[in-house]
Amino acid sequence: MIPSTTASGTLLPWMVSIQQSLMQRFLQHSLHHGLLLSGPQGIGKRNLADELMKGLLCLQPSSDGACGSCQSCKLVSAGTHPDHHVLESDKQLGVDAIRTAIGKLNSTAQIGRHKVLLIPVADKMTEAASNALLKTLEEPTDNTYLILITCKITSLLPTILSRCEKLNLPMPDPEQSLSWLASQGDFEVTGALLLAYGNAPLRVLKALQDDASISYREFTDGLADMLSGNADITTFAGKWQGNAELVIDWCQQYYHDQYRQQLRSSDFERYQQCIGFAKRAQHPGINKSLLLTQLFSQLIQQ
Ligand SMILES: [Zn+2]
Repeated sequence: MIPSTTASGTLLPWMVSIQQSLMQRFLQHSLHHGLLLSGPQGIGKRNLADELMKGLLCLQPSSDGACGSCQSCKLVSAGTHPDHHVLESDKQLGVDAIRTAIGKLNSTAQIGRHKVLLIPVADKMTEAASNALLKTLEEPTDNTYLILITCKITSLLPTILSRCEKLNLPMPDPEQSLSWLASQGDFEVTGALLLAYGNAPLRVLKALQDDASISYREFTDGLADMLSGNADITTFAGKWQGNAELVIDWCQQYYHDQYRQQLRSSDFERYQQCIGFAKRAQHPGINKSLLLTQLFSQLIQQ
């Protein structure tokens, strides 16, 4: 859950101006009916989409978005708005799911004038599902908006891309992310921690909320001890084996940043090694303690 941060609801501060420009175009009847929000994971694309949908359905919208108090806004908040559709799935999105969702858009809006369909992970659509969506993107039913989200834009069919207005959302400024994170709870968030999660503020927040006991600083202190020969690799690997994927991700981000700053080829090699280890960590049944031992041994050798 993202706590409230602005008067317009739960919109993240770095999304405010983007939302305003989209709402202005909506009010001027010049907003494209098919929007594709893309950008890195953990920057709040879904947050923007949710607030935009609320604004499109609101009975008295302004350039700031939804009013928050009309019948439509109340129904959206309650999760019972009949013209507000979200197509979520943990698995691939098949053609049947898309057809069912499109079917719901064919009737007249029941509350206001508009209907919206959100596909939060558009890259999960199969090719057949994408093709089924194309017709609606080409010839949408009246007063219908489709919002697609992806962090893997290259996984979408070119035909889908060409029929949507593409909004590539940038990573928020680190200073803005840090000040927002500081307002979210009793967390100690440093620039290093933010960087460890690729500068994506919602990834940091999720990690802190999921397991506040995992401390990035504790890990980096231990890593420094190990790199200087003051800690045993096997013991260190055993300690972090329960969070192997996260630890590998931290190492990957760390060396990526080192390379960006100093352009040393050894850092780039380490970064690439981390990518390889991240893939290996996904294999079912892999011995995580052994995997981390191998990774740390390689990092030390260079
Ligand atoms: Zn409203």
